[in-house]
Amino acid sequence: MLSQKTIQVIKSTVPVLEVHGTAITKRFYEMLFTKHPELLNIFNHANQKQGRQQTALANAVYAAALHIENLEAILPVVKQIGHKHRSLGIKAEHYPIVGENLLAAIKDVLGDAATDEIIQAWAEAYGVIADAFISVEAEMYEQACEQPGGWSDFREFVVQRKVVESDVITSFYLVPADKGLLAAYEPGQYVSVKADIPSESNTHIRQYSLSDAPGNPYYRISVKREEGMGDKPAGKVSVYLSECIGEGDVLLLSAPAGDFTLNQEDSRPVVLLSGGVGLTPMISMLTTLVNSQPARTVTFIHAAQNGSLHAMKAYVEELARNHPQLSYYWCYEKPTDRDREQHAFHKEGYVDLSWLQQVISKKEASYYFCGPLPFMKAINRALKEWGVPAEDIHYEFFGPAGSLESFS
Ligand code: FAD
Repeated sequence: MLSQKTIQVIKSTVPVLEVHGTAITKRFYEMLFTKHPELLNIFNHANQKQGRQQTALANAVYAAALHIENLEAILPVVKQIGHKHRSLGIKAEHYPIVGENLLAAIKDVLGDAATDEIIQAWAEAYGVIADAFISVEAEMYEQACEQPGGWSDFREFVVQRKVVESDVITSFYLVPADKGLLAAYEPGQYVSVKADIPSESNTHIRQYSLSDAPGNPYYRISVKREEGMGDKPAGKVSVYLSECIGEGDVLLLSAPAGDFTLNQEDSRPVVLLSGGVGLTPMISMLTTLVNSQPARTVTFIHAAQNGSLHAMKAYVEELARNHPQLSYYWCYEKPTDRDREQHAFHKEGYVDLSWLQQVISKKEASYYFCGPLPFMKAINRALKEWGVPAEDIHYEFFGPAGSLESFS
């Protein structure tokens, strides 16, 4: 239990630390990786380089500090981050290491302004915040491990089938190497893949949404190859998976995780919107919906650059032929001549509110969306402008957990 004095110090210093947030978290990661290079095997280096991880950490710590008297208020965020931590293999013993380096970074950046009283208050507050994460994550580890077919940490899976879905997206059908049971999952959840790339000194862990409906004797992930361009290096794991991993190869997977899941208790119409590779959790939800809730109206909206980058198009169109409750709409940013000749799309350019109002028959619906950041921002803005209540809007962001506030 924190004293009123400590709470007062925390609350009065949050704004100061917020101003220096990026400098502190940048310094924190430098110190952390110098002293504990083994943690480079867990954290995403690309997110570090682009500052996304720093922002996510700063947001999470400050949100927690602001609600230090009532951490229940931020439980959904703690759980969302907890899912990611559990899938990465972050354990209770990592928290003191993070705490020690975070305090050292605060001291380093703020200098004399960081008095002993302030540092002491933050040390106590960090302890309370860390305990909240540790207890949520302990429960998640237990659940992941004890469910039928479950496991903790990473398990070997064999690539049974590799299927090209578009010019940039490839699906991998994965079965347990031990031939044991597969843990169940909710449509919308993801797994973490730990890649041991021969040319790399560290392992790299990335999340991939399960792109098929639950209930199959395999997990399927669908990976977009992140090409390099100019100063932007090629994506490490996506390129390795797409180019070097084939049928018969073994990958290390975490048990399914994530809180972006389809509410199957809901019977109202549902609208699934995706941009690019953001379609993966949507395909899992779509297949589940037509199989398990055939009376539920589904609108599936997908934005791609053009037809050659549009994955799983034929699959959705075939599904709609057999399920009249499903309608689909394609929006191409830059259609090719071939797309035009074939009338392969419904809208050219970007998804906007007036088009959504034309294709969604009933505004009162549950909305799920996923895609690149500009797509997410545009959809979020459009739905809010239309007056869709916040509780009907659900999304997944393919970046560090805790950084979502940046677009809401
Ligand atoms: P990284 O090496 O991690 O690089 C990522 C990007 O950063 C690249 O575009 C790279 O060019 C850029 N970059 C790297 N270093 C720098 C630098 N120094 N300066 C500027 N730019 C840089 N992806 C899918 O394909 N399918 C999915 O179903 C999917 N589901 C996901 C679900 C969740 C919950 C999350 C969080 C992510 C998901 N992702 C998915 C994204 C996936 O986890 C990876 O982020 C993605 O595959 C890129 O990883 P990478 O190792 O190839 O690229």
